[in-house]
Amino acid sequence: MSSIKYRVNHNPILYNHLTKMYHVGRRFFHTYSDAKANQWQCDKCKMAFSSFKELKTHKTGKHSY
Ligand SMILES: [Zn+2]
Repeated sequence: MSSIKYRVNHNPILYNHLTKMYHVGRRFFHTYSDAKANQWQCDKCKMAFSSFKELKTHKTGKHSY
């Protein structure tokens, strides 16, 4: 169960040497910390979070999982 959620909501941070930016899914960030703060994304409303715990709290509150 948790591995499916991980695959759906977690975006790996990829550094692009050409743009000198960090890619997280389709979004771009100038710093690694910014990228890390947006690694977890809600599949319902696309809001981003820095941890799975925050995402889970958001889902429980907003989408009543
Ligand atoms: Zn949401």
